[in-house]
Amino acid sequence: MSTQPATPPSGPQTGCLVCGEAATKPWTGRHWHIPGRDRQFTYVACARCGSLSCAPVPTEAELAYYYGTHFDYGWYRQRASLKKIQAKARWRRAGRILKNYGASKGRLLDIGCGHGHFVNSAKRDGWEAWGVDFASDATAYGRETLKLKIVEGTLGTAVRSGQLPARTFDFITAWHCAEHVSEQREFFDLIAGLLAPGGLLLIAVPNAEATGMKSRREEWTWCQQPYLHVVHYTARGLTAAVAQSGLTVAATWSRDTWDGNWLSDEVFGDAPKVVAKQLAKLHWRLGFGFEEGVRLACYAIGGIRHWAFGLEGRGLDRAELSLLASSPPHAAANQPEGKS
Ligand SMILES: [Zn+2]
Repeated sequence: MSTQPATPPSGPQTGCLVCGEAATKPWTGRHWHIPGRDRQFTYVACARCGSLSCAPVPTEAELAYYYGTHFDYGWYRQRASLKKIQAKARWRRAGRILKNYGASKGRLLDIGCGHGHFVNSAKRDGWEAWGVDFASDATAYGRETLKLKIVEGTLGTAVRSGQLPARTFDFITAWHCAEHVSEQREFFDLIAGLLAPGGLLLIAVPNAEATGMKSRREEWTWCQQPYLHVVHYTARGLTAAVAQSGLTVAATWSRDTWDGNWLSDEVFGDAPKVVAKQLAKLHWRLGFGFEEGVRLACYAIGGIRHWAFGLEGRGLDRAELSLLASSPPHAAANQPEGKS
């Protein structure tokens, strides 16, 4: 993480990016800057919904520069096998939600799909599965190796270029992607425009009200830099953002992620990372193996805790916030004559 306590952030103050409220207050005295660039960024908290927003808002050019030069895609490449396991677990979660909702198989879109492992799981289960992501090497892997329908670009460029058919998706998912988007209103409007009548949206993001966020603030694993996680949502803020785009929010809930946030942050602090760094000096595999070993052990402990005590939804870290929403069904005017 790159930090610099010098000059304060500059640029227009835009208020809460999540709900649109103008009144915000400083959340931290810390400032960050994109390596190689001077402009300073920090987080402000919304006076109404409590969500955090990056201030000032990074421009598209700044984000493109950051993702093109400094974003650590290697982290994902090294963890490809773990990402496959995670995708399968996410598809099982999605499957339970769809079943509870009585949804039948149809067309799915995963926004921020990366290599496409989640899209692949859906496809194998009989869905017509699509993905969209702006990381070109990841989307190329999904298209060429996994033979998936994956569009390269941001959601905005993919929609505007006509590569994603409007009002046809029965299920849209966005796993830990919405918090990277600076144009929040546009993002949810685009999703609303892609959903078929009665279609479902499932979003998962870091929880601004997580135990770790409250106790460790900007040191929390999922807090990240403000130009990277442009927003951090509270349940109230995410609900407002989705509802503003005309979708009906069915539920929000938080859960433990089992990925070591709670254990490594609250119990071990930075120790696993420090040890892994030392081991990596001997050989990168040693460092990688140690860090992932701790992570898997935390998954296992979290899983046992969940299985034994049923802590879903009221867990100890509440690191992840999820939301389920639906698109309005066909308008009455579009119903065949004689039916209502
Ligand atoms: Zn707000």
